[in-house]
Amino acid sequence: MDKIVIKDMEIYAYHGVHDFEKAKGQRFFVSVEMELDLREAGLGDDLDKTVNYAETADLIREVMTGEKFNLIESCAERVAAEILNAYDAVKKVKVRVAKPDAPMDVDFDTVYCEIVRKKHKAYLGIGSNLGDKEGYLDFAVEQLSKDEYIKVNAVSSYIETEPVSDVEQDDYLNGCIEIETLYLPEELLKVTQDIENSAGRKRIVHWGPRTLDIDILLYDREVIMQEKLMVPHPYMAKRRFVLEPLSEIAPFAWHPVLGKTAKELLESVD
Ligand code: AMP
Repeated sequence: MDKIVIKDMEIYAYHGVHDFEKAKGQRFFVSVEMELDLREAGLGDDLDKTVNYAETADLIREVMTGEKFNLIESCAERVAAEILNAYDAVKKVKVRVAKPDAPMDVDFDTVYCEIVRKKHKAYLGIGSNLGDKEGYLDFAVEQLSKDEYIKVNAVSSYIETEPVSDVEQDDYLNGCIEIETLYLPEELLKVTQDIENSAGRKRIVHWGPRTLDIDILLYDREVIMQEKLMVPHPYMAKRRFVLEPLSEIAPFAWHPVLGKTAKELLESVD
């Protein structure tokens, strides 16, 4: 992938676990490698099609001087998040924060941490069959959009479906959402569960009625098999109420285990 790189930008700032570091300050050197497609900018000689590195440098300076962190790791996380949030075109960023005058009783050149962070594409299934169903699905979209680490790319139509359960209950309203997120899968699950809870969701009857259910259907092309999180969602390939809205917004979304697109899965479901 193409890159724009800022190397060893010097910034005087006040990070460190020691009080004297926060009071007196010291030099930091920040490097970033932003991955984005530069072809259009290069062919058209067009600044709007790329990232203005002077702007990025200002952003880095703001993050590094706006707050006092204990750790260079926190500086790097913040810088990475701000850059990924500021520029749609940047899909991945490597950030290095170096502290050459760190208080250590040895001769050394520098000490630094380096992290790589990227945007992940995920698909979420949403459903409700209690109370104001449409309101609850809209609430899910709204709450996700408000989160600084989530960008909602697309929302499907909501479809009415019959419950797939032996428990007597009302019909469901279901939909799908495509998001781009900086959260790791477990962090995303926590966010979606918090949203379910704030919609008044109580886990009383398994497979029973619910105000709001949010499932992580796909997360990049990752396969996760953990007790609390399975991705791709284990039932998605069998459920028309998931595949229909998913195919509407992302017919080519890829199921990494079955090796099929959402559209192909929908065509093969009973
Ligand atoms: P339910 O809300 O009834 O669909 O089930 C929620 C439970 O499923 C929670 O305990 C989650 O930890 C677990 N779970 C496993 N995989 C997923 C997934 N892909 N998305 C959401 N919840 C999941």
